[in-house]
Amino acid sequence: MKDHLRSGCLITAFSILLLPRAGAQPSASSQSATLIHCGTVIDGVSAVPRKNVVLRIEGNRIVSLSTDRHGSPHDGSTTIDLSNATCLPGLIDVHVHLIKEDAEHNGLQAKSLSEENLHKTLHWGFTTVRNLGAGSLGPADVDVRNAVADGSLPGPRLKIAICCENPKDRNFGVHGSAELRAAVDRRINEGSDWIKVYGETSPPPPGVADRDNKLQYSEEELSAITDEAHKKGVRVAMHTMGGPDSHRAIVSHVDSVEHGVDIDDADLKLMKESGITYVPTMFVITYVLATPGGNDNALWADRLKRNFDTFERAVKAKVKIAFGTDYPAKGWSSNPAQQFHLMVSHGMAPMAAIQSATMEGARLLGMEKQIGSIEVGKLADIVAVEGDPLADVSRLEHVMFVMKDGQPVDLSHE
Ligand SMILES: [Zn+2]
Repeated sequence: MKDHLRSGCLITAFSILLLPRAGAQPSASSQSATLIHCGTVIDGVSAVPRKNVVLRIEGNRIVSLSTDRHGSPHDGSTTIDLSNATCLPGLIDVHVHLIKEDAEHNGLQAKSLSEENLHKTLHWGFTTVRNLGAGSLGPADVDVRNAVADGSLPGPRLKIAICCENPKDRNFGVHGSAELRAAVDRRINEGSDWIKVYGETSPPPPGVADRDNKLQYSEEELSAITDEAHKKGVRVAMHTMGGPDSHRAIVSHVDSVEHGVDIDDADLKLMKESGITYVPTMFVITYVLATPGGNDNALWADRLKRNFDTFERAVKAKVKIAFGTDYPAKGWSSNPAQQFHLMVSHGMAPMAAIQSATMEGARLLGMEKQIGSIEVGKLADIVAVEGDPLADVSRLEHVMFVMKDGQPVDLSHE
C-alpha cells in the first residue's frame, strides 16, 4: 500500500466544485486533511462514472470533490494517489453472520471469535454490514457492535439483529400477537437495531419442498411484529425460502425479504409498489453446492435455479435489491464480493449491482445520509480497485485500498 500513500504536495490550485452542503462540518484546520486522487469515481448514485476526481477528507467526512489535480495546497495535507484506480463508496453487505459466539462461555468470547471475520470483511472492502443473527446469546452481538463503534475492535460498522440461528429459539419462542409485540420490545430494549424473523419453523425436512414447509406465523402475527417494530422506529427483515412465506412477509410489510428463493410475479409487483427490499443471497447456495459431502445437492441445485429465476424477474420488475450474501453461513471463508458476478450474469447491470452494495444497502439500513455514496458531507468510507469494475465486476473481489471513517486500513496484514 505504501506506493499509494504519499505525503504532501500534489495539488495546488485546488478548486472546490462542490461546496459542503448545509449541515456538513468541515474542520477549520487542514492539518488532518487527506486528499485522495481517484482516476475514476463511481459514486454510488450517479449513472456514469467521473474521471480524475480529488476527494478531500477532513476528520471522518468527505468535505469536497474537485477535478483539479494540479499543484499543491501547501497545507500539510496527505495525498493518496489512486490515479490509476477506480474509487467507490465502502461496500455494504446487508446479510452476514460474522459474529461468533461461544455458548459455553455465555457469549464472552464473541469478540475474539469474531475478530478474524471482521478483519477479513473489512479488508475485502465491506465497511458496513448488517449481522442478522449470531446464535442464541444476544448480548454478544451488542458487545461486538459497540466495540467496533468505539474503535476498540477493528471491523466494519455493524447493524445487528439480535436473533437466533438456533432453531429452538427462532422467532422469540412465543406465539400470539400480544406476546410477539412484547418480544419485539424486549429485543429492541436489549439493543437490537433490526428485528429478524423466520418465515418457517425450520429448514424443511428431507423430501419436503421449500414451498410446502410449515409457516411459523399467521399473517396477523407477522403484521403485529412489523407494526410493533415500526412504531419503535425499527425495521424488520424476514428469512423466506418458498413462495408462501415470501408472500406472507410481503403482505405483512416487512422491510426486507431475505433469501427469497421463490417470489412470484404478483408478489414482486407488490414489493415494488410497497418499497420492500429484496436481499437475494445466491452466493451461499453456490458455495453449498461446491462443497463436497453432507448436503442434498439435488435440493440445493433446485434452490439455486429457482433463486436465479426469482432474481432475474425481480431485476426486470425493478424491485429494490440490496447486496447480501449470508457470509459466512455454512462455513465458507472466501470473499462475498463473488456475488457481484452472479448478479451481473443473471441480468443486473454492473452499475446497479454496485449500487445494490452501496446506496441501496445504505437506504435499507436507514443510513443513506451517512454512507453509501461518495458525496460531500458523507462519512469517508472509500474503497478502490484497479481497472474498470463496470467492464469486469469481478474486480470488486480484489480491493486494493480501503478507508473507513476517514482512516486508511492497512491491507498489508492478511
Ligand atoms: Zn442468514
